[in-house]
Amino acid sequence: MSYTSVMLCQRCGEREAEVFQTQQVAGRTYSRDLCENCAKQDYGIFLGALLQSQASGAPPLTEREQRELRRVLDEAAPPEETS
Ligand SMILES: [Zn+2]
Repeated sequence: MSYTSVMLCQRCGEREAEVFQTQQVAGRTYSRDLCENCAKQDYGIFLGALLQSQASGAPPLTEREQRELRRVLDEAAPPEETS
């Protein structure tokens, strides 16, 4: 069997993950494996906040926006704990 290691979407856990992302946000590394469907849902919030936080000359994210971004990321891909 060579088909046993299909990566499932981290959000819905039902469809095969097709979008693989690694992002550094606020000093934490997030790996995200999402199906196309969930990736589309996430991208609006995720990329919007990320672009805003990294654009030169842009105002920094507000505290609320940072919390929201982290919440979205944590839900999609909790950072690995180094215990
Ligand atoms: Zn999914």
